[in-house]
Amino acid sequence: MQIIDAHAHYLNLPNYLENLIEMMDQCHIDMCCLSGLGKIFNCKDNEDVKDAMKKYPNRIIGSYYIRLGQSKIEELEDAYSHGFRMLKTSIPFKPYDHPNFFPMWQKAADYQFPVLFHTGIVTMFQKPQDKYISSWFMHPMRLEPIANKFNKLNLIIAHLGVHWNKDAAELIRMRPNVYADITGEPDGWRIRADKIGLDKWLWWDKAYEKLVFGTDVHYTKIPIILKQDKERINQLQFTNSEKSLFYSKNILKLLGDM
Ligand SMILES: [Zn+2]
Repeated sequence: MQIIDAHAHYLNLPNYLENLIEMMDQCHIDMCCLSGLGKIFNCKDNEDVKDAMKKYPNRIIGSYYIRLGQSKIEELEDAYSHGFRMLKTSIPFKPYDHPNFFPMWQKAADYQFPVLFHTGIVTMFQKPQDKYISSWFMHPMRLEPIANKFNKLNLIIAHLGVHWNKDAAELIRMRPNVYADITGEPDGWRIRADKIGLDKWLWWDKAYEKLVFGTDVHYTKIPIILKQDKERINQLQFTNSEKSLFYSKNILKLLGDM
């Protein structure tokens, strides 16, 4: 079965890219959507991702990182022309749904970039002292006005909201252009989700149509994430065709013709 990791980061560690590719080989992950979130997250940046796409064009899908309130709208044209096919965003200066950012979402819709939004309490490697960071700005419901206004734009809620799972799940159920991943550290919110049962939130028949597979961890933890997700989707009793939507087809649809 084809596997695409829709949520991978390029960490700022020696040989990270090579190690990641090697781990993807071992785990039979065909491609990953890679983003570089910069120093605050101990990551490489967009330029490094661009190089990674050139080096491994069949393995890396470029996900361009934008910080709302800082990134310029013109960057999207440049990103598209360099082959990026997705956007990733986190720690906005104002809430995700602030009208100041609407032109950015219009541009993202024009280029058919799906947008992966960090949601929930944010963990940073480095605390920027001078900047106001609020997890409220990254509540899943902040995506609702964007999804309503830009119905051609596809939005992905990262981590199913972390602790706002119910809101995240209901939003993906009720808005056709909103999806979610269930990424996170292997010992983080996912453990709580397993104890409670993911189907408490993902209760409707076709929830699998709105989920995309991703990892969002250091490459050494990818095997454990895969193992955990396999157990989860077995519990959710996905059929083989539902599994293939989760592991690759949903994200491929959002990315358009690859
Ligand atoms: Zn992430």
